[in-house]
Amino acid sequence: MFGYRRNNFTWNGTLRELEGSYPAICTERGRSSMTASPSSSSGLEVLLSTLQNAGDVESTLNILNILDELLSAGTDRRIHYMISKGGSEALLTALVNTGRSFSPNYTILLPLLHLLAKVGHRDRRIGMKAEEAGAVLLTLNLLRHNVSHARRAAACLWVIQVFSTSVSTANLIGENQGLDVIYRLIPHYTTKHLHTIKASINAFAALLCTRANVCLVVSKGYISGLLRLYEDWHSKDTEHVAVAIRHALLRCLHKATHCAAARHALVSHGGIRLLHQTTQTCLLSKSLECLVEPSVQLMRKCLPKTPLLLTSDQSAYSFPLPGRPHAFPDIDIPLDECNEESDDEDVEDNQEADSKDYDDDLESDLNKIRLRPDPDRPKELLPPYSCLCPELSHDFKELNLSSEPEDSSTSSSSSSDEDTVLLSSLPPHSSRRDRRKSTARSESSNSSSESHSETETSTERHTPDAVPLEARDFHSHSSILSTSPGFRSKVREARGEASPGQTEEEQDDDEEAAEESHCHTMIDRLLERHGACVPHHEPKMYHAAATKTKSIPGFSILAFPDFWGHLSPPGHESMAPRRPNIQRKKVFEDVQRFLNTDDIINQVVFDLEDSSPQDPSDRPDSLRFFSKFESGNLRKAIQVRRYEYDLILNADANCSQHTQWFYFEVSNMVADVPYRFNVINCEKSNSQFNYGMQPVLYSVREALEGRPHWVRTGAEICYFRNHFCPARGRRRTTFYTLTFTITFKHNEDVCYLAYHYPYTYSALKAHLNVLQKSVDPAKVFFRQQILCCSLAGNSCPVVTITACPASRGWKDLHQLRNRACIVLTGRVHPGESNASWVMKGTLEFLCSSDPVAQSLREAFVFKIIPMLNPDGVINGTNRCDLNSEDLNRQWCKPDPVLSPTIYHTKGFLYYLNSIGRTPLVFCDYHGHSRKKNVFLYGCSVKETLWQSGSTVDTVGLKEDPGYRTLAKTLDRISPAFSFNSCNYLVEKSRSSTARVVVWREMGVLRSYTMESTYNGCNQGIYKGLQTGTRELQEMGMKFCHSLLSLTKDMKALYSRKLINHINMDHKSHNCFEDDEPPCVEEIEYSIDCPMLKGTDLDSDVNSNMDSADGEEESDEGHKGAQQRRGSVGQSQQSSMKSRLFPHLITEASIETLNEKRNTCNGVNITDGQILS
Ligand SMILES: [Zn+2]
Repeated sequence: MFGYRRNNFTWNGTLRELEGSYPAICTERGRSSMTASPSSSSGLEVLLSTLQNAGDVESTLNILNILDELLSAGTDRRIHYMISKGGSEALLTALVNTGRSFSPNYTILLPLLHLLAKVGHRDRRIGMKAEEAGAVLLTLNLLRHNVSHARRAAACLWVIQVFSTSVSTANLIGENQGLDVIYRLIPHYTTKHLHTIKASINAFAALLCTRANVCLVVSKGYISGLLRLYEDWHSKDTEHVAVAIRHALLRCLHKATHCAAARHALVSHGGIRLLHQTTQTCLLSKSLECLVEPSVQLMRKCLPKTPLLLTSDQSAYSFPLPGRPHAFPDIDIPLDECNEESDDEDVEDNQEADSKDYDDDLESDLNKIRLRPDPDRPKELLPPYSCLCPELSHDFKELNLSSEPEDSSTSSSSSSDEDTVLLSSLPPHSSRRDRRKSTARSESSNSSSESHSETETSTERHTPDAVPLEARDFHSHSSILSTSPGFRSKVREARGEASPGQTEEEQDDDEEAAEESHCHTMIDRLLERHGACVPHHEPKMYHAAATKTKSIPGFSILAFPDFWGHLSPPGHESMAPRRPNIQRKKVFEDVQRFLNTDDIINQVVFDLEDSSPQDPSDRPDSLRFFSKFESGNLRKAIQVRRYEYDLILNADANCSQHTQWFYFEVSNMVADVPYRFNVINCEKSNSQFNYGMQPVLYSVREALEGRPHWVRTGAEICYFRNHFCPARGRRRTTFYTLTFTITFKHNEDVCYLAYHYPYTYSALKAHLNVLQKSVDPAKVFFRQQILCCSLAGNSCPVVTITACPASRGWKDLHQLRNRACIVLTGRVHPGESNASWVMKGTLEFLCSSDPVAQSLREAFVFKIIPMLNPDGVINGTNRCDLNSEDLNRQWCKPDPVLSPTIYHTKGFLYYLNSIGRTPLVFCDYHGHSRKKNVFLYGCSVKETLWQSGSTVDTVGLKEDPGYRTLAKTLDRISPAFSFNSCNYLVEKSRSSTARVVVWREMGVLRSYTMESTYNGCNQGIYKGLQTGTRELQEMGMKFCHSLLSLTKDMKALYSRKLINHINMDHKSHNCFEDDEPPCVEEIEYSIDCPMLKGTDLDSDVNSNMDSADGEEESDEGHKGAQQRRGSVGQSQQSSMKSRLFPHLITEASIETLNEKRNTCNGVNITDGQILS
C-alpha cells in the first residue's frame, strides 16, 4: 500500500484500484467524456484513454501527474510497459488535441511535452507514431511560435529530438525548414537559457541522422558555423560554466561527419587545427577532460583518407596457378558516389532491429546436421594411400637382430628422412601428376644419400642433377653478417662485397660454389666460436633443409633466428600493462603529421619490390629493414619522423587481403632510443594487442652472447582504426594501426620483429630430421613420408609414430595392427605459428622416452601432418595458400590440383575409414587471435540444436558424450587450457572446415580444432602471463597426456610419478568470460558518437520546471544560470527521474512521496503489480 496526498487529490492504492477511484481524479466533465469500459481495461488503459479524451485542464493535469509519478519511481520497465499499452499514442493524441487550438493551453502542453519526451525517448517507434498522429509538424510549429519562450522552446526541442530517431521523421522535419529554425536558436556565448541552447543543439544533432539533412547542413555552411560556435564558446567560457554546451556542439559535429561531404567541410574550414588547439587547452583542465575524447575521435574521423603508398593493393608475390590465367589486376570497384567512404550512414533507422535470441549460423535441422554426404571421390582412388600406413606392412625384421643401436643408414624402422609415396592413381591432371611423380621419384632415389649428407656433415651438396626441382640454395647469413658490423670485417676478409638481395639465377655455378664454400666457412666459424645450444635444433640441419625450400621470390637468405634457433627465455613474461589514454596520445601524434609537416620525413627506406641494392650511406641515420626470407612479411617501410616508421605488410600471395602476420629484420639502430613502429594496414577490427599482448623480438647480438631468445617486447602498444585506405580499389576497406615502441639494447644490432614466434617450413623439416635421429629405432617406429607436393612443389610431410612391437610374434604384430589411430594436423593457417609450437611439443613428447609417451605409442598409432600449408608458411602469408583460398574452407570438396594437401589428407582419412581404422581422435591445431587461453572446438548435435533454438526434442536424442572427455581432462591437467572457452557447435559457416568434415563425413566423434592464444591466459596459474614457446610446447605435450583418458591406462594420467608438474586444481573454474570486455578506448571512430542517455534527457526535462515562478519567466539572471550549471553539466544520477510538477507539491506530500518510493523499491511490489 502506498499513497500520496496533494491539495486536490488523494489516493491510496495500486493502479489496479484506480478503476474505482477515478471519480477523484476527474471532474464531472471529464468523467462524462470517458469512453473506456472499466471492466475490460486495466487502470493504466483507463488513464490513457481518459488522457486522450478529457478536455478539462484539471483532469488532464492530474492524469499527467499520476503517470509521471508512476513512471518516475521505478525502472525503465514501467515506461516500456506503458508504451506496450499504447502510452505513446495516447500522449501524441493528447498533444495534437491540445496543440491544434489557436491559442494552446501551455499549462497542459508543457507537462505533456515533458512526459512525451521521457516516454518517447524509450519508444523505438516514436517517430513513426508521431507521423501517424500528425504530431511532427505540429511540434515544429509550436517551436516556431515559441522561439522567444525559452522553456516552451526547450520542451518542443526535446520532443523533436526524440521524434528524430526515425529517419523519415527527421527528413520530414528537415524538409520543413526545421534545421534552420533550430540552428538559429544556437547563439554565440551567453550565460542565459543554457538549457534551451543545449536542447537546440541536441535536437539539431538528432536531425543529422539522415543523409539528406546532412547535405542540407553542409550546403548551408552550418558545419563551419558550428565550428565557429565551438571556437567562440571555447574561448569565452573561461570559467567552464558551459562545458555541456561545448560537449553538445562536438557531438553535433560528430553526427554530421558520418557523411563524407561534412568531413571535407570540417577539414576545409580548419576544423582539425581548431580541434587540435582546443584540445591542448582542454588537457590542462580537469573540468574539461570530458571534451578531450570527443575532440580526438572527431579528428580521427575527419582526417582525410590517405591511400597506402603502394602501386598496387595486390600482394607483391604472385604465383601462376595451373589452369588459370596469370593476371591479378587491381580491381577498381566503381564507387557509388554516395557510399564512398561512408560506412555508417542512416544507421539510426533501427526500428527493425529486434534482438535475436538464437544464432543464425547454427544448423537447426537435425537431418541436415547429421547428413553424411557421399564421398567426394570413387573408392578406386583410395588404395594408393595404403603406403601411408607403413606400420601395417612393416616386417620388423630388425627386431630379431641384436639390441645394439643400429646404424641409421640401415635401420628400416626409422630410415630415410622422407619416404616416398607414389599416389599413382590420382585424378587425371597429368601435368601436375607427372611433376609430382618425378619429384617423388627423384627424392626417393636420393633419399639415403640425402639423409646422410644432411644429417652428417652438410658440406656435400647435391648436384643440380640430383635435385631436379630447381631447388634454391641459400647462401645464408651473408646479409646478417654484412649488416652486423661485428662480422663485417670477417666477411670482407673472406670475399668481396656481395649485395644481399642478389638471387642465384644471376650467378653462375662457379660463383655459387664459391659463395657456398664461403658460406659454410662462415657458418662453421660462427658455430665454432659461439656454439649452438638449442635442444632439438641443429643450425646446419636447418641450413640443409632450407636449401630445398621453394619460395615464390626465390629466397636466398636465412633469417638468423630460424637458423640459430630459439630457446625460451628464463621466467615468465607478464602481459604488458596498458597506459591510460595511450591511444589518444598516439592519435594526437598522427594528427600532428597532418598539421605540422615540419618534422615529417616520409621517406621509403625499404621496399620489397625494389630489387636495386640499397645503399646504406644514403641514409646513415635510418633504420634498415629486410624481409626477403622464409616467413618474412614486410612490404614497405617508410620513415615518418626521425624515430618513427610506418610499416606496410604484404597481402597474401595472389590476393590483396589478410594482412596480420609480420616478420622482418631491422638493423642500424641506436641503443636506448625509443623507436615507434606503426603497422598501418592491419585488417582485423580488434586485437589482443589492446589487451596486454606484445610482439616478439630476437637480437642477434644477444644470441651470440648466449641468449638466443625470442622475447616479448614493446611499450606503448595499441591497436586502432586509422585514416589509411587501400592504394586502389576497395575504398571501403578500413585499416587499423598496430603501434608499438621499441628501445633497443645495443647499438647497431641486427634484430628481428614478429607478430608471434616464427616457425618456418624449413624449421619443421629440420626438426623432423632431428627427431628421427633422436629416437631409439628399436622402440620407436618413426617414419617420415611425403603426403604430396604443394602448389609450389614443396613436400608436405606426414609422420607416423608408434611403438615397435615387443617381438615379431603374431600376438605383438596383431596388437600393433589393431592400435587405434590418432590423426593430428596443423598450421593450415600460415600466420598461426603458435600451432606449430604446440605441434613441436606434441612431436617431441611422442618421440621421448617418457613412460607416458611409451604408453601412448603402445596404445595408438599417430599420424601427424604438421604443416598443411607449407607454401603459405614459406611465403609469409597470413591466412591463405598460394591460390588465395583459405585451405580450411576447402574440406567439403578439395581440389586435387589447387588444394593438394587438403585433398590428400582427406583421401588418407577416407582410406583409413575404408580399412576400418577410422581415427579415434582428429585434431587440427590452430591459433586464435582474439581470445586468451587454449581451448577446443568440437562437434555436438545436441549442443548445436540447443543453441540454435531448434524445436527438435533433444531429450530423446542419443549422443555419445565422449566428445567432452578430452576437454575435461585437459582442463584438469593443462594450465593454459580453459574448458569454459570450448564449444561444440556446428556452425554453417564452418561446414567446410577440417573439424566439421572429419566429424560428419568420416564419423569421427572426437574431431577438434585446438585453438591456442597468441597472447596469454586469463585463468589458472598462467593468469596474466603471455604464453611463450615453452607454454605452447607444454600444451602440445598435455594434449598427448589427455589422450590417456581414452585408454585403460587412466591411472597413469593422474599419477604424479608419471606426469610431472601437474597441479591438479589450478583452476578457478568460474571464468565464463571468453570474449574481451570493450576496450578502454574506442578502436573504431565510426560508431563512437556518444549516445545521449535517457537519464540525461530526463534530468534536463525535469529541471525545465525547477524555478518557482512558472513557465513565463523570460529572462533568467546570471544567478539563475549559475544555479543551473551543475545540472547542465552532469548526468545527475540522483535526480534521474523526478517529477513534472515538483513545485506544486507541498512539504507534507514530499514526505509521503518518499515513503512511497521506499515501498516501490522494496521487494514486494513489482512493476507489473503496480501497473496492471
Ligand atoms: Zn586457424
